Amino acid sequence: STTADRVAELESEGAYAVMAAASKVEQETGKKVARLEIGQPTFPTPQHIVQAGVRAIESGQTKYSSPSGVQSLKEAVAEHTTKTRGIKTLPEEVVIGPGAKPGLFLTTLALVNAGDEVMYPDPGFPTYKAMTLTAGAIPVPVPLTRDGRTFEMATFEKLISPKTKLVVLNSPGNPTGGVMPQNDLERIAELAKEYDFWVITDEIYSRLLYDIPCAPSIYSIPGMKERTILVDGFSKTYCMTGWRLGWAVMPQQLTNKVELLLTHSVGCTATFTQGAGVAALTGPEDDLLEMIEDYRSRRELVVQGLNSIPGVTCPVPAGAFYAFFDVSSFGLTSREISRKLLREGLVAVLPGTDFGANGEGFLRLSYASPRDQIEQGLERILSTLKTL
Ligand code: PLP
Repeated sequence: STTADRVAELESEGAYAVMAAASKVEQETGKKVARLEIGQPTFPTPQHIVQAGVRAIESGQTKYSSPSGVQSLKEAVAEHTTKTRGIKTLPEEVVIGPGAKPGLFLTTLALVNAGDEVMYPDPGFPTYKAMTLTAGAIPVPVPLTRDGRTFEMATFEKLISPKTKLVVLNSPGNPTGGVMPQNDLERIAELAKEYDFWVITDEIYSRLLYDIPCAPSIYSIPGMKERTILVDGFSKTYCMTGWRLGWAVMPQQLTNKVELLLTHSVGCTATFTQGAGVAALTGPEDDLLEMIEDYRSRRELVVQGLNSIPGVTCPVPAGAFYAFFDVSSFGLTSREISRKLLREGLVAVLPGTDFGANGEGFLRLSYASPRDQIEQGLERILSTLKTL
C-alpha cells in the first residue's frame, strides 16, 4: 500500500539530518564535532519558570485544558502583545499551542485551499514549504536580498497572482537574522489589502535583537490586524524548546476554526506547561537580558571571525542567533562545503540550500551554541576553507 500524495514531497528540517551526520562522525572518529548546526539555546530554562512548572504539576494542573489554551495564559499573551506591538489585543484573539509550529501549520490549514499560492522567504524556515504542501497549496518561495534582510521587493510584487492566498513573513528571520524594514512591511500591507491575501508573521525571534529595541511588525500597521496571524512563543526567548509552548494571535472568527483543528489533532497543550508560560511572560526578565548580552558578544565573535577568513563574507545579523555567510567564492556548492567542514574539519553547520534554492552559496552557523564550541568551530572553518 502507498502513502498519500500530501506527504509525498515533505522533507525534514536539514538541521536534523546534519545533527545525525555529526553524531555519526563523532562515533566513527571518537572526536568531538563543534556543534553549530541547531538553533537551540544552551542556557537552561530560567529557574522561576521551572519552579512555576513544578508548582503547576504539584497543584494538579494535569488535566485537559480548553483546546485553545488556559485563560490566564491567553490573558498574559494578549497583554504582552498589546504592550510589545502597540495594538489592543484581546484574550479571545489568542490561541495557545504546543510550540509556535502548530500556530503556523494549523492556521495555514484553516486558511488555504488546494491550488492556492503561498509566498514565503527563500532562504526561509523549512516548515513554511511543508505546511503549504500539506495544505495542497502551491509553494511560491520569494528570494531574499543578498544581505538576507528582506524580500527582493520587485520580485515579490511580480510573484503576486490572483491565486495568492497567504504570505509568510519571518522577522527577525531564520536563517539570516535579518530584520525587515518598516517601508517594505508597509508596501506588503498595501498589497495585502489590494490583492486580499492573509499574512502570517512569524516573530519567534522578536526578543532576540541586538541593535534596536524592537523590530517593526506588520501586525502593528493600521488595518492589518484583520488579516494577520502573529506567531510567537517561548522556545527561543525563554530557552523552553522542549516544553512545547507557543501562541498565535488572529482575528476571532479564525480562532474558532483553529480551535477545531487543535481539538481533533493535539487535543490541547500540556496544562502545566501553560502554567510555566504565565510565569515566563509575567516574571522577571534578568535572565533574558543577560542572555541577550551574551548572544550580542557571540555575534561579534562570529561576524569578526568569519569575515577575517579569506573568501568569506558575513553580513551582521540584526537578530535571532544565526550567521548566514557567503562562501560562494570557493566554487563548490553549499552542501559540498558543509560536508567537507563536517568530515574534514569536524565542525557542523547547515548548507544554505536546506532553507531553499536561493540559499546556495551560503552556510548557516548557529551562535546559540556555547562559546568554546563557537571559538573552536571558527578555527576549524578557517583551517578547512584554507585547503579549498
Ligand atoms: N519559526 C522559526 C522561524 C523557527 O526558527 C522555529 C524554530 O526553529 C520555530 C518557528 C519553531 O518554534 P517552536 O519551538 O515554538 O515550535
